Amino acid sequence: MADAPEDLAAALARSEYAVVLTGAGISTESGIPDFRSAGGLWEKYDPMEVASLSTFLSEPERFWSFHRPRIDMLADVEPNPAHLAIAELERRGVVRAVVTQNIDRLHAKAGSDPIEVHGALDRGLCLRCETRVSMDELVARADAAEDGVPRCGCGFPMKSGVVLFGEPLPAGAIDAAFAHAERADLMLVIGSSLLVAPVSQLPRVVLDNGGTLAILTESETPYDGVAQVRLNGKAAAQMQEALAALDAAGGTAA
Ligand code: NAD
Repeated sequence: MADAPEDLAAALARSEYAVVLTGAGISTESGIPDFRSAGGLWEKYDPMEVASLSTFLSEPERFWSFHRPRIDMLADVEPNPAHLAIAELERRGVVRAVVTQNIDRLHAKAGSDPIEVHGALDRGLCLRCETRVSMDELVARADAAEDGVPRCGCGFPMKSGVVLFGEPLPAGAIDAAFAHAERADLMLVIGSSLLVAPVSQLPRVVLDNGGTLAILTESETPYDGVAQVRLNGKAAAQMQEALAALDAAGGTAA
């Protein structure tokens, strides 16, 4: 199996419609813990329980005591070389779409226009009357509340744009992700365990259509045996090396 950044560069150079799929692992080098690695969030909390719609509705104070430090931590983080390399590949027309499970907005900060299938920290909203506010306003309302829970004018607790466990995924984003996967002749997965459905189905769509699958993730994935390119190192260094190899070979798509 191909396992070097040069192999990824060659696959990118051969592709006509490359789609990137990212997960929490692309952002760990920006200082954001993922869920499943050692030291990840899963060791300290059960996110399925605390970051869930039912906890938000039944215990908004507890929900916000978990969610608020995460919002504060994400306010100051910056994209790392992996996010920047993807944005550069998009500018060159090599990468046609970026689908992300991340809610951290780092692809957008790097210059991409990602399809955010799990929502994002880009707004506040009320599930009762559908009022929307900016993130700044959401945080200001949380600060003003004695219990730390931001509230809508209608009195209901507000949440961020992040999709909670138990909430439906945004249909437009999921549909767009599958439409790009149908067109893709290469899917590059970066920093995802590929264990969370329905995103975990996207590589299967590409493979079934005869496309190539490249994976750059530190731990095992269910697709490791069928990926044509399988890189195991850190996302930032590997993507920088792949970009350098692409430059050395002449630069853009085939
Ligand atoms: P995951 O935690 O299940 O898997 C992350 C993968 O990335 C692991 O396989 C890990 O080995 C790998 N990894 C970690 N650091 C890496 C690095 N520097 N280079 C290469 N690989 C690295 O993440 P997932 O598949 O995205 O699924 C978990 C869910 O968690 C998603 O739904 C996502 O929305 C959410 N989440 C998002 C963030 C974020 O927005 N940054 C953070 C934590 C969790």
